[in-house]
Amino acid sequence: MARVYNFSAGPSVLPEPVLQKAAAEMLDYRGSGQSVMEMSHRSKVYDEIIGEAEELLRKLMGISDNYHVLFLQGGASTQFAMVPLNLMKTKKKCDIVHTGQWSKKAIAEAKRYGTVRVVATSEDRNFSYIPDLTNVTFDPEAAYVHITSNNTIFGTRYREFPETGAVPLVADMSSNILSEVTDVNRFGIIYAGAQKNVAPAGLTLVIIRKDLVGEAQEATPTMLNYATHAEAKSLYNTPPCYNIYIAKMVFEWLVEQGGIPAMQKVNEMKAALLYDFLDNSRLFKGTVAEPHRSLMNVPFVLPGDELNAEFIKKATDAGLVNLKGHRSVGGMRASIYNAMPVEGVRKLVDFMKTFEAENN
Ligand SMILES: *Cc1c(COP(=O)(O)O)cnc(C)c1O
Repeated sequence: MARVYNFSAGPSVLPEPVLQKAAAEMLDYRGSGQSVMEMSHRSKVYDEIIGEAEELLRKLMGISDNYHVLFLQGGASTQFAMVPLNLMKTKKKCDIVHTGQWSKKAIAEAKRYGTVRVVATSEDRNFSYIPDLTNVTFDPEAAYVHITSNNTIFGTRYREFPETGAVPLVADMSSNILSEVTDVNRFGIIYAGAQKNVAPAGLTLVIIRKDLVGEAQEATPTMLNYATHAEAKSLYNTPPCYNIYIAKMVFEWLVEQGGIPAMQKVNEMKAALLYDFLDNSRLFKGTVAEPHRSLMNVPFVLPGDELNAEFIKKATDAGLVNLKGHRSVGGMRASIYNAMPVEGVRKLVDFMKTFEAENN
C-alpha cells in the first residue's frame, strides 16, 4: 500500500487509524451484521453512534447545554443562507467582515434576506491579512456579526475574535474547527463543513445557542429552519449517517491525541516548520502577514509560474500531492489539517530545501 501525503484543502486527509477502523467495520458493524452505510437511522445501534458523536464533540469543544449541536447537510455554503433566514426576522440587518471568497459568498447570500453592512475588509491587499476590528463599532441593532475564522484560500486566521456585545457572533469555522482551543461561549453560531478537519464531504456541523433557534423568517423552508433539526435531534430526515459515524471516530481519535489543547500544540509545531523555512528561504515566499497566518492552510509562491509548476509536478512525483494553490493566490498551498502527520510536513520542508538548492 502506498499512501501519499495529501495537502488538499478539502476534501482532505483523514486520520489513518480512523480509515482502518472504518475498513475493519465495513461489512459488520459490531455484530450488527450490517455496514453503518446500510442501517436504519432510526435503529438503536445508529442512535448510539449519533449520540456518542454529539457527546464527544461537546466534550472536545466544551459545549454547554446552552447550545444545540446539529448534524446537517448542504455544506457550509447552505449556512450562508440558513444564518440570515433564521436570525433576520425582526432585525433585518447584519454586519459582516469580508476576508475572502467565502465571506464574499456569505455576504451575497445574506443580501437576499436583509441589509448587509461590510464592517471591514482586507480586499485592498488581496486578503493577505485580517483587518483590525478594535476600532469597528458594530451595529447594536444588527441581527448578527459574521466572520470567517480561518480563510482557507488566502491562509489567514483570526488570533482574537471581535467583541460584539449583545449581538451574536457567527463564525464560519469550516477549515479550523477543532484545530485550536476555542471558547464556544463567545459565539451565537459556529458552523463548519466537515470535509476539511472532521469527516468526508456531506456533513455540516452547526453549534447554535438555544435562544437563537425558533425565530426564522416566515418563508424559511422547513429543511433550512434550525428549529426543525434542533427539535428532531438532527433526525428530522435521513442524516448523512456514514459521515457522522466517521466524524465520531475522528472525535475519538482527537480524544486519544490528548484533546484540542494537545492538537493545537502539534498544529503550531507543524505550521512553524513551514513558516520558519519560508521566512528564511531565498526562493520560496509566504503570502500572509505574520500575525494572521493560518495554522491550517499555508500558501506560498516561487518566483514565476514556470517554477511553481515545476515544483508542483516534482512534489507530486515524490508523493506530496494536491499542493497547487488556489487560482486567486497562485503558487502553492499546503493544507496541514489535524490529520496531516508531522512527518508529512517534515517531508515537504525537506523537499522544498532540496528544490531550493537545485534552483540556486
Ligand atoms: C470549504 C469552505 C466553505 C464551503 O464549504 P462547502 O461545504 O463546500 O459548502 C465555506 N467556508 C470555508 C471557510 C471553507 O473552507
